[in-house]
Amino acid sequence: MNTECLLNIKIVLVRTFHPGNIGSAARAMKTMGLSELVLVQPLDYPSEQAETMAAGAVDTLTNAKVVGSVLEAVGDCTVVAACSARAREYELPPLAPGDCARRLVAAASRGPVALMFGPERHGLSNEDLQHATHRVLIDANSEYSSLNLAAAVQILSHELRQAARSEVAVAAECAAVKELPTAESLDHYFERLNQVFGATGFVNKAHPGELQKRLRHLYARAEIDQQELNILQGMLGSVDRILRDKQRE
Ligand code: SAH
Repeated sequence: MNTECLLNIKIVLVRTFHPGNIGSAARAMKTMGLSELVLVQPLDYPSEQAETMAAGAVDTLTNAKVVGSVLEAVGDCTVVAACSARAREYELPPLAPGDCARRLVAAASRGPVALMFGPERHGLSNEDLQHATHRVLIDANSEYSSLNLAAAVQILSHELRQAARSEVAVAAECAAVKELPTAESLDHYFERLNQVFGATGFVNKAHPGELQKRLRHLYARAEIDQQELNILQGMLGSVDRILRDKQRE
């Protein structure tokens, strides 16, 4: 069983409200052999209630990394799967838990990847989803499809374990995995894109984030690789150089 790759899979809990859910999520992870827990702005942590619910997984809980933003949590990751029951205006490529797990395990053999879960009340915001490359949907009762946070973590953790177990399938996918850009390098690209096309006047001043939002989804759907991002960076650089030359004239 390829347990090594499980260490490269981060479980990211975003703005969790109930500390008990953080503890239960840590337990769900440890039972399936996962250990990398990252907490983005937890409301109440560290907490006794979290420790109680973690039971024998207090080590996973105390080793959790606490960070201030989603980008800080997933910046070094190439595949960022976001668990969300809700469809959005701009749809990310949706995956079933098993497919998502195989994708994550395959990419995890090369470097860090992340699986992200939202807060209990409202789930992940569109801003949180900016850095996601895939959406994961757990098929459930259409009249009530919102699982408890830790239950969702348990289902995906189990799928990750099954994926890591079926080495043949994963090895086949590994061979097909392209070199993917990290969330951080994509973020730098979009910052530069906004700057350059802000200067040409193409970015709508009234809605400066709109172009970026749409293109992020386009690139996520296309699953662009590092080489393709290099080409886009190069194209952007050439426009930038012309603009600078013009400014000097
Ligand atoms: N009320 C929220 C759901 C919060 S449940 C909403 O409408 O989005 C807490 C988290 O568990 C969610 O953010 C999501 O990450 C995960 N989750 C719960 N049910 C899910 C489902 N059916 N599919 C995928 N993720 C789910």
